[in-house]
Amino acid sequence: MISYKLFGPGPVDISKKSYQALSTPVMGHRSGDFVELYQAIQPGLQEIFGTQRPVFLSTSSAWGVMEGAIRNLTTKRVLNCMCGAFSDKWLDVSKRCGKEATGLRFEWGQPVDPDSVRNELQSGAYDTITIVHNETSTGVMNPLAAIMEVVREFPEVTSVVDTVSSFSALPIPMDELGIDVMLTGTQKALALPPGLALFSVSEKAMKRAEAVRDRGYYFDFLEFLKNHEKGMTPSTPVIPLIHALQSKLEDIAQEGLEARYARHRANNRCIRKWMDQNGFRLFPDEHYASISLCCIENCRDLDVVNFNKALQAEKQFSINCGYGKLKGKTFRISNMGDETESTMTELFDAMDELIDRFLPESMV
Ligand SMILES: *Cc1c(COP(=O)(O)O)cnc(C)c1O
Repeated sequence: MISYKLFGPGPVDISKKSYQALSTPVMGHRSGDFVELYQAIQPGLQEIFGTQRPVFLSTSSAWGVMEGAIRNLTTKRVLNCMCGAFSDKWLDVSKRCGKEATGLRFEWGQPVDPDSVRNELQSGAYDTITIVHNETSTGVMNPLAAIMEVVREFPEVTSVVDTVSSFSALPIPMDELGIDVMLTGTQKALALPPGLALFSVSEKAMKRAEAVRDRGYYFDFLEFLKNHEKGMTPSTPVIPLIHALQSKLEDIAQEGLEARYARHRANNRCIRKWMDQNGFRLFPDEHYASISLCCIENCRDLDVVNFNKALQAEKQFSINCGYGKLKGKTFRISNMGDETESTMTELFDAMDELIDRFLPESMV
């Protein structure tokens, strides 16, 4: 059992209230009680998605829906915008689905450039585009509104937007931006356990799916819609997690979305302040830096791995030592979920007490 609090960018720390909600007795997924639960959470979800469309619940991690979207929408070619580990992987996933796919590549730490998107879509080769809003691996938050403004110039293209680590941390108005599929998972920005993906599909994307063969069953958008109309999911969902989601939506409503957004901005500023005070800097350009986590460049040669081990063992906190090829070169601190300025300060106080032991100046 872990004895430390998670401050890495997902899974993140889960509240006692959510754990309690998880132990609600399981009901039949075709029962009236389930329909009531399913329908009760729709308005709250639609509000955060910024959509009038249904919000579907997929018992899978986010990748299930990321793959499913490709299988439901792509007949010509998909453009996968790539600027970090998750967005890069999406190209591989598209190809594994047997689709024609092109990667639009940007250096890790750089955002997706809207003009490059336009240049590529102008070829007319594409019917789908994938965008990761908040590239959790590099701490880049892509300029989604500007990218979507370009995508809307191409009505034949359906857009799939991953908001796994940004959903509910700032407004992402799906309908207003013209996003065709918007998806998220439970274990990051929502601070719930892993196991459930949430997604919504525009009318245009639903029409497209009707004409696409080999959608499979488990992630078939048409199955989700058909069952949604009865207040149900296609197959047996992870019911405990849906109870926890309902409880989280109550918390979000109580706090108010605007206050939740403001809290995330303030908490993110706390991380940046700590970073400045300790002589570190952001890995991405400040203009494109995430507001739900910081990916910090390790410009002081901090022994990140052992620092984090000590933080876990002595202070009961855990940060993240960098993703993939950025391991050790960066480290990441999340402010997703339920954190407050006071819980962030607890983390930084603990880090301040330990950090000197793991900096090279003190090791000579
Ligand atoms: C974590 C993450 C994913 C993958 O989520 P799974 O739940 O592991 O499928 C996808 N996209 C982003 C941006 C992420 O941060």
